[in-house]
Amino acid sequence: MRNLFVALCLLAFGTTLAAAQQYDLVLEGGRVMDPETGLDAVRNVGIRDGKIVRIVATPLSGRRIVHAAGLVVAPGFIDLHQHAQDLTSQRVKAFDGVTSALEMEIGAPDVAQFLKAKEGHSLIHYGTTASHVAARALIFGAPLPEGTILPKSGPATDQAATPEQIGQIQQRLRDELDAGALGIGMGIEYTPGATRLEVIDMFRTAAERKVPVYTHMRSAGRVEPGSAIQSTEEVIGAAAITGAALHIVHINSTCLRDSLECISLIEGARARSLDVTTEAYPYIAGMTAINSAVFNPGWREKLGIDYGNLVVPDTGEHLTQKRFDELHNSSKPQWVLIFANTQEIVDAVIPNPLIMIASDGAEGHPRNAGTYSRVLAQYVREKKTLTLMEALRKMTLMPAQMLERSTPDAHRKGRLQEGADADIVVFDPQTIADRSTFEKPMEPSVGIHYLLVGGTAVIDEGKLVPDVCPGRALMGPGKAKASH
Ligand SMILES: [Zn+2]
Repeated sequence: MRNLFVALCLLAFGTTLAAAQQYDLVLEGGRVMDPETGLDAVRNVGIRDGKIVRIVATPLSGRRIVHAAGLVVAPGFIDLHQHAQDLTSQRVKAFDGVTSALEMEIGAPDVAQFLKAKEGHSLIHYGTTASHVAARALIFGAPLPEGTILPKSGPATDQAATPEQIGQIQQRLRDELDAGALGIGMGIEYTPGATRLEVIDMFRTAAERKVPVYTHMRSAGRVEPGSAIQSTEEVIGAAAITGAALHIVHINSTCLRDSLECISLIEGARARSLDVTTEAYPYIAGMTAINSAVFNPGWREKLGIDYGNLVVPDTGEHLTQKRFDELHNSSKPQWVLIFANTQEIVDAVIPNPLIMIASDGAEGHPRNAGTYSRVLAQYVREKKTLTLMEALRKMTLMPAQMLERSTPDAHRKGRLQEGADADIVVFDPQTIADRSTFEKPMEPSVGIHYLLVGGTAVIDEGKLVPDVCPGRALMGPGKAKASH
């Protein structure tokens, strides 16, 4: 089915040929919102050749006029943390307003292969970091199995690397940056054998190439040594020592009860002029591979949970010790939901001005399909702890500015401005809502009327357009340098 869909992907030819009218498409009379300029007014938006050309109050003519009265016209959402990169997940991301979804936390194991596989076959824009986890597995002689991004726990994750191996890992990451990676992704909790010096050395490589490190930190919870606070200190320290920019992923699911304290550590680092940012998703459960090093001995004490707090997504099965041992020791990378957070903490984290919204999306967890609509429904409309503009800033401008550290192309993203890329979401602020649940994680959100990716409609009148693949790669400075 997926192959059939790929085969049907067509290029959008001919938009410039029929230029009898001034614009390819006009979004007429919508509430145009741009978090950078603060524009929040009824405007007409003229789109040509994949770009926003004109934003005015006076009428515009075009080959097609879309009536957007009563709807919000905003920059398409940019998800910095999306693991599932297949078309099935991209479709539910589109219904959640996402026009760019990048694998930045861990990174694709082979950047060139990732970019090649997606070229011309992607519904939305994409990109990736260089994976420290995968580079380490490769150098330890245990490359990741095809289609996986996380290693099973074992010597390659749990043993310290020799200085020679560290040098080889750094070289692999440089090669991956040359292939177009947008930064270095580090899942330190998945490689507990990585010493503090190994972590600093990877930050040195990022600093040398002037790209950020995106990291899932070393440890969660409160048990010392190894608390979330200490883990935050470790990466902020590495950023301070090396000068690399640092993005801490899903602070909600790593810092748990200490999330607000971890955010205050980031605030402190930023006050000392360090480039440190973070993100969260609006759910009380996390999800990861059960055979990974996250579940090495001590995880129950660390997370303050028990076997029964682990749930298999497809079946809803709560684990017992016996089932846990069986799955943890298996080489099959089974996802498991981890119920370790509270609604109060999530509700306090999401509105914090330092928090970008990022989904950590993968099939099996409702965050894959519902993250952005859920924030708009629950925090903007129901709890009213965020204004619509604040929420849009977290979903558009902030992640675009994060990507600007690696690519100038990101200056044209996350903005509803003349000259910006026509990555646009048109939604009803009164009805937008997530429908995905832990029982039905892939239910698409409702309320998105139109989604444009580089000017091409991917959702049109609320329906998926089946035969387009306008997604393009965002690539880092290494690729630009290598192609000169
Ligand atoms: Zn993670």
